[in-house]
Amino acid sequence: MTPRHVPLLILGSGPAGLAAALYAARANLSPLVVRGREPGGLIATTDRVENYPGFPEGLTGDELAWRFEEHAARYGAEFVNAFVTRLDLAAQPYALHLDERRLTADALILATGASPRPLGVPGELEFFNAGVAYCATCDAPAFDGRRVVVVGGGNSALDEALFLVRYAREVMIMHRRAALRADRVLQTRALTHPRLRFVWNAQVTEIVGEEEVTAVRWRDVSSGEEHFLTTDGVFPCIGHLPNTALFAGQLALDTAGYVSTDGHTRTSLPGVFAAGDVADPVYRQAVTSAGDGARAAMQAVRLLDERFGTHETERQAEEQTEVLGAG
Ligand code: NAP
Repeated sequence: MTPRHVPLLILGSGPAGLAAALYAARANLSPLVVRGREPGGLIATTDRVENYPGFPEGLTGDELAWRFEEHAARYGAEFVNAFVTRLDLAAQPYALHLDERRLTADALILATGASPRPLGVPGELEFFNAGVAYCATCDAPAFDGRRVVVVGGGNSALDEALFLVRYAREVMIMHRRAALRADRVLQTRALTHPRLRFVWNAQVTEIVGEEEVTAVRWRDVSSGEEHFLTTDGVFPCIGHLPNTALFAGQLALDTAGYVSTDGHTRTSLPGVFAAGDVADPVYRQAVTSAGDGARAAMQAVRLLDERFGTHETERQAEEQTEVLGAG
């Protein structure tokens, strides 16, 4: 069966993918957005978003993602709940497998985001979903009245801890240094919370348990001493890794594994653009990702215009002629 062809396919439905979808849809490209494994992206798992311009009262990450999607859909973006299992960037049009289906696309916007970085200590994999979790918004109710450890000292760690403490009896933030890197506003909120406690200079070295997590083993990095801390859960919040497994080896990545771009979202391949966390080791905000998505869409529109003369690509026109001819 001939694969379906689309002028522009967007991989990922976080702020980058959805802003790209909005801009491309408004340029009459009818982009196809593959939602991927995490519809709405990481922002959809964030409890409160208080720094997206235009929402002074704040809103949930889920609602922000939903508003983005509704906005793009209103102008003709198409969404599919699927996952790209294979991507072939060796020849154009680019070919991909969408679960069982095959597709081709003249241009791609890679907006696959990033996933939580694992701590990489013994017990982390073993107790995943048995006390180890990475998303407080998703899993906090399971820790109602219990003790929880959050690892990290950035915005994610404090954000997750502040959400968890609504349920947990006690939340212990274990950080490998004695200074936080999170925004001041979050630091103040966390440092003054009566049920949030901090363990400074603490490196978690093992997650311990039987059927479920019962404790963490940690090392005091200033004294070198080893300790145990009793806990019912562990939330590693120590940053993110870009989701590039699908196209690694097919286009240029930087030394940290992020997609390399020329500063204008263009990757090392013609017609392939990257936006948001997958290409951004520095800013990683919903607003900067959305900005990247808009820029990627504008670049894609320009490229398709240059290549085909109009947004209604030659291939689409040919396909329509064939369909009409066949009828
Ligand atoms: P991050 O800012 O990179 O912070 C990671 C934290 O984990 C740091 O405190 C780091 O310690 C610690 N860490 C890293 N590797 C570790 C290891 N192997 N063992 C123990 N600790 C380790 O990452 P993030 O907090 O996930 O934030 C990512 C981005 O999303 C940031 O740009 C952040 O601003 C943004 N974000 C914003 C919000 C918000 O605005 N509300 C919420 C969430 C995320 P050191 O400090 O010692 O390096």
